[in-house]
Amino acid sequence: MNRAGQLFLVFFVAAVTPASAWAQAAIQYDKIEIKTDKVAPNLYMLSGSEGVDPGHPDGAGGRIGVLAGPDGIFMVDSQYLQIGDKVLAAIRRIDPGPIRFLVNTHIHGDHTAGNATFAKLGAVLLAREELREGMERQPAPAPARDPGRLPVVTYGMGDPVRFRMNGETVELIPVRAAHTGGDTMIRFVNADAIMIGDFYRNFGYPFIDTNNGGSLKGALEALELTMKTAGPNTRLIPGHGTYINRTDIIPYRDMILAVQTRVQQLIAQGKTLQEVLAAKVTAPYDAKVPGGLLPAGAAGTSADRFVSMVYAQLKEGR
Ligand SMILES: [Zn+2]
Repeated sequence: MNRAGQLFLVFFVAAVTPASAWAQAAIQYDKIEIKTDKVAPNLYMLSGSEGVDPGHPDGAGGRIGVLAGPDGIFMVDSQYLQIGDKVLAAIRRIDPGPIRFLVNTHIHGDHTAGNATFAKLGAVLLAREELREGMERQPAPAPARDPGRLPVVTYGMGDPVRFRMNGETVELIPVRAAHTGGDTMIRFVNADAIMIGDFYRNFGYPFIDTNNGGSLKGALEALELTMKTAGPNTRLIPGHGTYINRTDIIPYRDMILAVQTRVQQLIAQGKTLQEVLAAKVTAPYDAKVPGGLLPAGAAGTSADRFVSMVYAQLKEGR
């Protein structure tokens, strides 16, 4: 490949790689343990241990949901490929039955890289059409390119897709371009719980992956949709971090709106991105956002990544 080609490849890979992947080399997969949390009589959440995943120091990888029972297992997200055996062992401790369905909340590898492992066990993979398109585009190396990782059933922005299994109604609620271009919230109606993916996070500042189709406007809409869909006691389960309820969304949304307003003012004054970052517009929130000033990949700290995204979205008139 000539020099221009090499340069193109470097920038292309940089542009399509989520920040969490930059830390991938340092993830200590062999040290990850899977913790299981029962949130309802037949609904469980699996998460990775602390301190072994530099991109997610609060808990390795993305959270997995498991609805178990006589009708088989319904899974949400699949974690890293490298720990498939540990995830499977954790599921088997809950229920020995067939894994029938697996839905992805969004495209990122910490939520989807293990897809093929469960597809090979017979699970039907489901996701937004945009997620599948994004996966097909990604220049992932083998074995991550395994075609078995691709969703088999896809859906768009219409009514929720509903599953009736194990006495539960599971709703796959499509979310317009928010954390990524193909987000889905998964609601367990009887358990009164919603897995909301990564458009809300309580470790670090919001991450809106515009390279994978996410948008600031969509993220704000997703937060509104969450508050509308959830009841007062509904447990909201983010892809990372602690559980919340709908009132916790309010200060989070207000923080995004305040930062957006401040960045808009600075843009109106003709400030460059460097000047906006130097203005430390997140300062009033930094003490309240755990991990907010930790490095978050190539863009600097989590706060820098967030402010850079807000700046770019406003500059583009989004
Ligand atoms: Zn994510």
